[in-house]
Amino acid sequence: MVKVGSALLTDPETGRINRSWLESLIEDLLRLRRRGQQVILVSSGAIALGRRQLGLPKGPLRLEESQAAAAVGQIRLAHAYKELLESRDITVAQVLLTLEDSERRHRYLNARATLETLLSLGALPVINENDTVATTEIRYGDNDRLAARVAQMAAADCLVLLSDVDGLYTADPNKDPEAGFIKEVLKITPEIEAMGGRSASDVGSGGMTTKILAARIAISAGCHMCIAAGHHRHPVSRIEDGARCTWFVPSATPIAARKQWIAGTLRPAGAVTIDPGAQRALLDGRSLLPAGVTGARGRFERGDTVSILSVEGTEIARGIVTYSDADAVKIMGRKSSEIEGILGFRGRDEMIHRDDLVLLNPEPALKESVGS
Ligand code: GLU
Repeated sequence: MVKVGSALLTDPETGRINRSWLESLIEDLLRLRRRGQQVILVSSGAIALGRRQLGLPKGPLRLEESQAAAAVGQIRLAHAYKELLESRDITVAQVLLTLEDSERRHRYLNARATLETLLSLGALPVINENDTVATTEIRYGDNDRLAARVAQMAAADCLVLLSDVDGLYTADPNKDPEAGFIKEVLKITPEIEAMGGRSASDVGSGGMTTKILAARIAISAGCHMCIAAGHHRHPVSRIEDGARCTWFVPSATPIAARKQWIAGTLRPAGAVTIDPGAQRALLDGRSLLPAGVTGARGRFERGDTVSILSVEGTEIARGIVTYSDADAVKIMGRKSSEIEGILGFRGRDEMIHRDDLVLLNPEPALKESVGS
């Protein structure tokens, strides 16, 4: 995943899109895709582009002014991406998210499923915050944290924040000639946080502080994150060629981090009981299908974490459920192909997908007890 800031995307003099630079970035992204990597781009720039078009003055904007600017700028941004990508035979998809899409679980699951679908169909998602509807209280305001949340949602393994600085320093390098460059961060300590306490650049909203907050989200989701200077042409290839940047290194993979988080849920919202066949499938690393569910307890919504109980009532696993308790009861014991006929909509085939499921104490004894 790559995030570009407004300061790189727009020319500070004219307020227009830096087209030849953007083309070089797109070429970098397409090179990653040709290598078989899935690419998501998080792009700022809507407000910067729109304010010029609307003739708004320099300096801080009122909320309604920045929302108006975003409405005008986003369409220009989307147009530029469409032109640049479709002339290279890539389908571009615009995804506008709000804070709620990443914080509310069922919306999080929806956004995640959409991203997965777009990627599997070969489209290149270009993401921004939905600035025209996001009000102050419910707004990220900066695309650094938005990008980190999307990285978490998509279980991305790498997030590159292209910025107007080349990384993290022990002090402000413009003021302090002794300032040391930090190449790698394994843990976000209070010292690292203190290094983020400097002013933001004047075009985008994110400063070093929001980048460090983003790094915290990214590495806890098992995603590597890098802060690198973006103003050169081919900014992503430069990083691969060894250009200076700061890497934040996670201690787990994205899926392992998601599973740790699921296992650590303090109070699962409810529970489903499964039959011995489904239990065997789970132990073999497969998903839980409605066919193997024999009962549901508690009140839960799509996106909640639930316990998975064996016939004996022992909690053997936990996972994020894709149906509410009411729907789960209706489709339990039934084939996935029957779901649409029963519920009236075509939901997921799985009750709990294997990527969202973690076995608790998968001991060999348990495996024997289910008669494998
Ligand atoms: N979403 C804002 C925009 O597109 C930018 C936020 C940021 O600067 O990080 O204009």
